[in-house]
Amino acid sequence: MLAPKTHSRKYSPSKSSIWLNCPLSTLLNDGSSQETNPQAEFGTQCHELGAALISQSLNLIDYDSEVKPIQDVIKELDMYSEEMQEIADGYADFVIQAIEFERKRSDDEPLIVIEQHLDMDFDEDAGGTLDCGMISSVDGGTLTVIDLKTGRGPVYTFDSETGQFNSQLGIYALYFYKAFKDIYPVKKVRIIIYQPVINNTNEYEMPIEKLLEFEANVLLPAVERTKVDTPEAKVGKYCRYCAGKAICAKRAEANIEVIKEIKKPAVTLTDAEIELFLPNLDELIQFAEDIKEFALKKAMNGHKWSNYKLVQSKGSRKISDEDSVVKVCEASGIDPYAPRKVAGITELTKRIGKDKLNELIGPYITMQSGSIVLVPKTDPREEVTIIEEGDINKC
Ligand code: SF4
Repeated sequence: MLAPKTHSRKYSPSKSSIWLNCPLSTLLNDGSSQETNPQAEFGTQCHELGAALISQSLNLIDYDSEVKPIQDVIKELDMYSEEMQEIADGYADFVIQAIEFERKRSDDEPLIVIEQHLDMDFDEDAGGTLDCGMISSVDGGTLTVIDLKTGRGPVYTFDSETGQFNSQLGIYALYFYKAFKDIYPVKKVRIIIYQPVINNTNEYEMPIEKLLEFEANVLLPAVERTKVDTPEAKVGKYCRYCAGKAICAKRAEANIEVIKEIKKPAVTLTDAEIELFLPNLDELIQFAEDIKEFALKKAMNGHKWSNYKLVQSKGSRKISDEDSVVKVCEASGIDPYAPRKVAGITELTKRIGKDKLNELIGPYITMQSGSIVLVPKTDPREEVTIIEEGDINKC
């Protein structure tokens, strides 16, 4: 079953980590300042291609529009690339395998939806599009949602810091369940993130009761808090994704408090004081970046900030006519070409595909460790220990 894609503005499931926590954000995230960016557009087009591949492979019926051949779908994707094809192929394979696995374990044919719009009854503006949903008869009724992520920031189905499952996927699972609960009983819920660009696939399983508790104790009370005359603002690490991130007075206040602490007279900061500041510094830097970006955009749109002006940053020299440069150099006996260099792994993957790359070039690829960063203990990455300066070991 297929359905068209529409997005909620105020109560977008993908922004639920913001509005479940901060009621004021629903006034600022009302869609009026919504901007698309190339990464988001690339992601949307990956989903379109992935959905088309799955639908074709499973012979799904689209009741709302004609089913197009894959080549026609590709023609309409203006950001189409080999990378997009690879992501969409991987996603389609992953979904099809998950469906086949469930089919084998199930007594009846599971219900399968792809790119399914879900209405959410707590507000007329609320709704979202589920990438892939499935309900099988396994274990008395198993509901699965799969979400494709195309960004590079890792996304998890469970946050060990808050002890809460991913609210975006939880909301999809809840309204998918509610849409079909009279026909398909559900006892168990599985939420799965498939994020191929960083090899991050993870899942979380819970009984349906836990999802319904989330609705009663988290979701609906949060929606209530947004529907008052002056919704409260609550600052958190999600602020950087809020449409009001650069102009929110509450966020500014919280950051000014941090600055005040740092400015307290002291000869040197103690380790304990540094430990107090560390959790706030990323947010402080991000806040400053958000204000700079906002001020630049507004200036580009004609706003004059007092004591500030727009200038051109340092330019770089560029050869305007390569053919002429080659001719002149060769006439003077000078080699005009740069030394040949082996293409990078991403470029080679684009040229020959992942499988061939692994087969032919894999033996010559080694993994270089990334630079060391200091992160909170709750970060899911493996901790390293420093043995001697420069040498590291994974714990
Ligand atoms: S910036 Fe943060 S505190 Fe301000 S409205 Fe947005 S989410 Fe709420």
